[in-house]
Amino acid sequence: MRILVVEDEAKVSAFIRQALEEEGHAVDVAADGDSGLRFAFATEYDLLILDWLLPGHDGLEVCRAVRAAGWPVPILMLTARDAVADRIAGLDTGADDYLTKPFALGELLARVRALLRRGGAGQAPELRVGDLVLDPATRLVHRGTRPILLSAKEYALLEYLMRRSGETVSRSRIMEHVWDFDFDSGTNVVDVYIYYLRSKIERGKESKLIHTVRGVGYSLAAHEH
Ligand code: CA
Repeated sequence: MRILVVEDEAKVSAFIRQALEEEGHAVDVAADGDSGLRFAFATEYDLLILDWLLPGHDGLEVCRAVRAAGWPVPILMLTARDAVADRIAGLDTGADDYLTKPFALGELLARVRALLRRGGAGQAPELRVGDLVLDPATRLVHRGTRPILLSAKEYALLEYLMRRSGETVSRSRIMEHVWDFDFDSGTNVVDVYIYYLRSKIERGKESKLIHTVRGVGYSLAAHEH
């Protein structure tokens, strides 16, 4: 999933970025509210993590602007303030959850997982395509009863495809959601990872799930369309 972190303290944003990248997410960092807003409106993020106190527009203003644009992306607010009134102000502005600094890394990651699950409202927590099952809570993947071991990137790619199962997704959209801006988009990294995934989720007599849509990209579906 692609996540935007808006945080002016470089140490904190580096720490969050590393943790999220280790979970297989693509992470962009903006250091102030204005560039945060520019990023947020330029790219389709799956989650925003906003620090409250920022130079320029603060986190609340960024949150308000995103909601005013009618955009339902999950938002996690970070703040050093833990007064109840502040918390209410944050939630009233349209934030989905709230984390008080300093926080434990494990708690941040748990909240991120919960928010990403909630992402598409009303979605079953488990993703299922045919007999392929991915559980975002445990990050376990099965095909029938066969457990499938994936690297962080393979997992991120599969989760992205499963959340859009039945849709054709272009290579550039996949790049955008699973890899970072700084990644060289001239490479065939998407095709390489699709190849890795296929070799793990389509073994022996198992039916094909990842379909190549010539000239466009890929679609993940139990049956070819
Ligand atoms: Ca700050």
